[in-house]
Amino acid sequence: MSDTVKFLLPEDRIPKHWYNIAADLPEPLAPVLNPGTGQPIGPDDLAPLFPMALIGQEVSAEREIEIPEPVRDVYRMWRPSPLHRARRLEAALDTPARIYYKYEGVSPAGSHKPNTSVAQAFYNKEEGTKRLSTETGAGQWGSALAMAGSLFGLEVDIYMVKVSFQQKPYRRALMETFGARCVASPSEETESGRQILAQDPDSTGSLGIAISEAVEVAAQNDDTKYSLGSVLNHVLIHQSVIGLEALEQMEMAGDYPDIAIGCAGGGSNFAGLVFPFLGRKLRGGEDIRVIATEPAACPTLTRGTFAYDFGDTAHLTPLVKMFTLGSTFVPSGIHAGGLRYHGMAPMVSHLLDLGLIEAAAFYQLDCFAAGVQFARTEGIVPAPESTHAVKAAIDEALKCKEEGSGRAILLNLSGHGHFDMQAYTDYFAGSLVDEAYDEATLTKALDGLPGVAAE
Ligand SMILES: *Cc1c(COP(=O)(O)O)cnc(C)c1O
Repeated sequence: MSDTVKFLLPEDRIPKHWYNIAADLPEPLAPVLNPGTGQPIGPDDLAPLFPMALIGQEVSAEREIEIPEPVRDVYRMWRPSPLHRARRLEAALDTPARIYYKYEGVSPAGSHKPNTSVAQAFYNKEEGTKRLSTETGAGQWGSALAMAGSLFGLEVDIYMVKVSFQQKPYRRALMETFGARCVASPSEETESGRQILAQDPDSTGSLGIAISEAVEVAAQNDDTKYSLGSVLNHVLIHQSVIGLEALEQMEMAGDYPDIAIGCAGGGSNFAGLVFPFLGRKLRGGEDIRVIATEPAACPTLTRGTFAYDFGDTAHLTPLVKMFTLGSTFVPSGIHAGGLRYHGMAPMVSHLLDLGLIEAAAFYQLDCFAAGVQFARTEGIVPAPESTHAVKAAIDEALKCKEEGSGRAILLNLSGHGHFDMQAYTDYFAGSLVDEAYDEATLTKALDGLPGVAAE
C-alpha cells in the first residue's frame, strides 16, 4: 500500500455522468403526494417551481445522467476534490485503522453545496429563468447558490433566517459579494412574511418561514424559480460526483473502504459520498458498512418516524415519505446549523428503512472535541456539521484498536469551518452545552403528522 497522503485526480477525470441510486434500489421509493388529494403529484405540479430538466431527474430511474459540459467546466474550478489519508490522525489515535477523508471544503463556498447549485443554475439558465429564489439558515446554501448565479448570469434572492442574518454578517457579505440579494426573513416583501410580522413584529424567523417566502416568490413570478440545497432526489444525484471520484481515488490508494461515513442534515453530502459505493454493493459488488451521523439535538434518523410529512413548517410543499421529527419540531440552537432540519431525504430514509444503512447520533461537545483533534493533526478546521462525521470515524478507528483489526474508514469532510469560528470560540470558552431533544416537544410534533395511509 502506498505512503501517499493525498490522492489527486487530473481534471479530465471529473465524472462525465452523475450516479442515480434509484436504478439499483431493491424496492422503489414511495410516491410524492398532493396534500389536498392524497394522490401522487405529476411533473406539472412542480413546473412553477423547478425547470423541467430537474423535474425529470427528480423522477428518473436511469443509473447514469450526463453532466452537461458547462457544469463540468465550472466543476473544474475545484474538482476533482482531494482524497486524503489521515495518517497523522491515525498516529495520534494509535489505531491500525486506515482513515481516508474526501475534502469538499476546497470549493469556492467552502462546502459540497456548489456541486448542486452550479447544476441547478445551469438548467435554470437554459430554460430561460431570470431569477432564483431560495432560503438559507446558516448561509452555506445561500453562498453556494449566489456563486452559481453569478457564474451563469442569474439574479439570486435569498431569504435568510433573521437571527442568522444578524449573527452571521460574513456569510451575508459573501452572498452579496457574489451579487445576490440577501433579505432578512420574515420580510415585508411577501404575503407569508407580512403575516408573520403582523402577529409577531419581533420574529427572528425560521427555516420554515424562509422557505414559504422563497416558494411564494417563485410561484408568483413567471421568470423566477425556486432552488433547494438538499433533500430532493436531483440534489442527491448531483452530489454523487463526490463518491464517484472517491471510488477512483480509493483505487489509486490500493484500498477499499470497509466503512463509509457522512453527516446528514437533509442527507445530500452523505448520499453524495456513499451512494456510488452502495450501488456497487447492490449490484453484487464489495460489501460496505455505511453510517449517517446526526446531532442528538435533532435526531431525525435515530428518533424520528418513517411517515408522510410536509417539507416545511407552513405546509406549502407536497407530502414526502421520510424519517421526520414532525414539521413543527424546532431543534435547540446547536452550532451545526446545517443539521437542524426536521426531515431527511426520502432516498436516505428509504435505505435506512430497508436496513441498507445505519444511523448514529452524537452530542455537540464530543463532536467539537473530535473536530479540534482533527484540526490539530490534519490541519483542516472542519465545519461544525462535518465534525459529526469525524467523531464517528474516530470512534470506529478506536474500536479497530480495541479489536486489533485494521479496517479502512472513509468519511466525507463536507466543509471547512472558517465561517463558524464563533462556534469554536464558544467551545473553548466552555459556553457550549450538550442538548438532547425535548421529549414532550417531539411527541407533540409527531402527533401533528398529517394523516396519510403511510404505504
Ligand atoms: C449544508 C451542510 C451540511 C448538511 O446538509 P446535507 O444536505 O445533509 O449534506 C453538512 N455539512 C456542511 C458543510 C454543509 O454546508
